[in-house]
Amino acid sequence: MSQLNKAAKIMNLDKDIHEILKQPDRVLSVSIPIKMDSGEIKVFTGYRSQYNNTLGPYKGGIRYHPGVTLDEVKALSFWMMVKCATVNIPMGGGKGGVIVNPKELSEGELERLSRGYVQKIWRDIGSDKDVPAPDVYTTPQIMSWMRNEYEKLVGHKDPGVITGKPLEDGGSEGRGFSTAQGGVYCVRELAKKMNMKPEETTVAIQGYGNAGSFMAKILHKLGYKIVAVSDSKGGVFYNEHGLDPEKIDEIKKSGSPLACYCLGNACSIDDVPHEGPCKHINNDQLIELDVDILVPAALENQITADNAGKIKAKAIVELANGPTTPEADEILKEKGIVVVPDVLANAGGVTVSYFEWDQNVKGQHWSEEEVLQKLEKTMVTSFDEVWETKEKYNIDMRTAAFVKAIERVTEKLKS
Ligand code: NAD
Repeated sequence: MSQLNKAAKIMNLDKDIHEILKQPDRVLSVSIPIKMDSGEIKVFTGYRSQYNNTLGPYKGGIRYHPGVTLDEVKALSFWMMVKCATVNIPMGGGKGGVIVNPKELSEGELERLSRGYVQKIWRDIGSDKDVPAPDVYTTPQIMSWMRNEYEKLVGHKDPGVITGKPLEDGGSEGRGFSTAQGGVYCVRELAKKMNMKPEETTVAIQGYGNAGSFMAKILHKLGYKIVAVSDSKGGVFYNEHGLDPEKIDEIKKSGSPLACYCLGNACSIDDVPHEGPCKHINNDQLIELDVDILVPAALENQITADNAGKIKAKAIVELANGPTTPEADEILKEKGIVVVPDVLANAGGVTVSYFEWDQNVKGQHWSEEEVLQKLEKTMVTSFDEVWETKEKYNIDMRTAAFVKAIERVTEKLKS
């Protein structure tokens, strides 16, 4: 809400529209009784928040996590509205969640829970109403079960009811690395604005999962120097020539902690020199490295009032959702560090989700090349628009993205 209020003030937002945007359109809270493998019935709680569908059907992931709360789901659905509007895709904001630790369920229990969730919300979803997708701990397989359950209940095919499906069940080419690819387009456009040449630009990436590892690989291919990466167990820093993400992958696959490598072979962490050009670092050290671009790609709240003052990067590209606290934002702004906000930097994922929906409703299947061409166009145009808004109002890029997004929703609401 503080982000909405900040943008509303700058753009002198109509008071009535501001009020409308303060609440989700609809929130569903459901009980899902599931027969466990033991024979007992366990009742799970699920939510779906449909924030605003002014621009198109609600869109947003469903997370399975023991820490899911209604307030969190509502806030995430608001951010989805902003994200979709920032990159100008005709989708509204939505989010869902079930309070569960999926790691404690068998595959059969997980399937029954996923189908049970759809049995409770099916009247309010559909390719023309609300289109869920994967989020934390939900997978393409879960999306397939949900699509199947939905189609059984409505009695007809509707592949666009859900995105993030496996390719063979109507998924889109490119979805697996779309978040990272979108972030790469942002890095490229930012580098142009800041006169950074790829081969002279150093990048540190916190988080080496789906988003971070693809980002490292694509940037490396483009000539950027990936000098540090980390995961939950810590990371490595090698400034001289940069790291080769393919070799980092080999290390991760071997099950070892991230380590420097010795010409083609992963060295054990014990062999890694702790001083010198290649060294083992922790996540706090990674955030404070003297690099050109810092990419948080792990968790929320990593850049806080405690460490923002120590950040030396010239720019931050937020691949993770919510990695920077509002207090840290102020400090970074004062220091002149440019932040490409999550609602823009990681919007490649929802953009390709929208492409999946678009292909499904048109009965088409696009090649990876076509998907990437369209993604590039969307991301570059959106980046430029947010940059122009930032210049126009002399504000940071996050506030600019909110202003641009709310301008779009407002125009449509008034029309
Ligand atoms: P993931 O689970 O595949 O990877 C997360 C990575 O972060 C792992 O390597 C993990 O070891 C690491 N990690 C965990 N705790 C850490 C810590 N304290 N310090 C450093 N690293 C740590 O998740 P993902 O899909 O890559 O998502 C990462 C972030 O990107 C999340 O914030 C997510 O919301 C956001 N995001 C992802 C997508 C997507 O399509 N995958 C889309 C939009 C936003």
